[in-house]
Amino acid sequence: MYDWLIVGAGFAGSTLAERLASVRNERVLLIDRRPHIGGNAYDRYNDDGLLIHQYGPHIFHTNSQQIFDYLSRFTEWNFYEHRVLAQVDGMLVPIPINLDTINRLYDLTLTSDDLEKWFAARAEPVEEIRTSEDAVVSKVGRELYEKFFRGYTRKQWGLDPSELDKSVTSRVPTRTNQDDRYFGDEFQFMPKHGYTRMFERMVDHPNIHVMTQTDYRDIRDIVPHRRVIFTGPIDEFFDFRFGKLPYRSLGFKHITLDKAWYQPVGVVNFPQTEAYTRITEYKHLTGQEHPKTALTYEYPSAEGDPYYPIPKPENQELFKRYERLALATPNVWFVGRLATYRYYNMDQIVGQALATFRRIGDAVPLPSDQMVVEVIRSKASLAS
Ligand code: FAD
Ligand code: UDP
Repeated sequence: MYDWLIVGAGFAGSTLAERLASVRNERVLLIDRRPHIGGNAYDRYNDDGLLIHQYGPHIFHTNSQQIFDYLSRFTEWNFYEHRVLAQVDGMLVPIPINLDTINRLYDLTLTSDDLEKWFAARAEPVEEIRTSEDAVVSKVGRELYEKFFRGYTRKQWGLDPSELDKSVTSRVPTRTNQDDRYFGDEFQFMPKHGYTRMFERMVDHPNIHVMTQTDYRDIRDIVPHRRVIFTGPIDEFFDFRFGKLPYRSLGFKHITLDKAWYQPVGVVNFPQTEAYTRITEYKHLTGQEHPKTALTYEYPSAEGDPYYPIPKPENQELFKRYERLALATPNVWFVGRLATYRYYNMDQIVGQALATFRRIGDAVPLPSDQMVVEVIRSKASLAS
């Protein structure tokens, strides 16, 4: 009898498996239907020995000391600050849009103060910022929105930015200085030996039994367990009772080139041309030295594995219906990007899993407490 059946061995499932096994000394069966652990953060060495990310580039960044310290138990880190260039009007310019982006694109010599005024002169007043279009045009105006955001967003989501919640494009800031880092977080690192090695260390515990290529559906009625943590798509758990929750998928084309380097930075975005959204060159991210180089092209699609919840009001409404069902389902906890339908980064998922672990502690006493209660109960029944 397992204390927990954990469905999904990504950040959510692996964090909870580790905590429940090592802090509460509980027995965990951790399953994943894929042939590996790590969820979407899974990385592997390709046939040429280059470390690649099977499901697209994953860059770790967080402002949380607690989350960084937690993961640091399972990995050492390489310092890495991510930089992205966008191919716009035939040029490669920094994104997030910054002082150099504008000066290069328009052949200007603005200062930061000038740029603030330059943006202000172009920004469109928006009464209430609701959509991803509002979020950008209200800051930098329509021309830059069209160059950098409209095409990319339509490709990535199959929707116009005016149909998506403001939170999507708000992930990308606008800067008036020369900071060309993609993220501004305090901690920006890559796991020194890759994500998969880090996951292996997280789940390496005598109380954790890992089974890959195992679907929840196939074992839920066979393997005895007391409780479930589900990190897959919440609509699938409930057999799509209220209809399908939309998720956006991606196709990945992984290639290796017989030369040392291909592009100047880890990721180049293509907001105006091409069917793919971006090209990643992993050696920039991993720091690996190798005579060849590995790239991934990302092709967004409606079909395929669910990668992104789609932030739109009606999708949120549908999710809320499933969430109400989830709350009324005893002994099952829903955690992670797909089960809580949140466009969360890795660190946020770890934070969510650690918070869930604390909630479980409030809801379910430690086995030792339970045993004490049971001993007292059985003694009482013997006495009576
Ligand atoms: P997942 O990693 O999706 O894990 C869920 C697991 O559950 C999957 O492995 C799945 O196979 C399994 N599963 C589902 N249903 C079942 C079932 N019925 N039976 C058995 N197993 C099941 N975040 C960052 O912080 N930085 C980045 O740079 C970044 N880049 C990203 C790039 C891409 C292309 C994508 C798609 C995401 C990116 N993310 C990034 C987000 C990151 O991938 C997620 O935050 C994180 O991986 C979510 O972890 P999770 O455990 O919730 O879900
Ligand atoms: N985006 C864009 N152009 C860019 C980069 C981002 O339009 O060059 C928009 C797009 O809608 C994207 C969102 O901003 O989905 C968030 O970008 P991010 O890089 O955070 O996407 P992720 O890495 O999660 O795919």
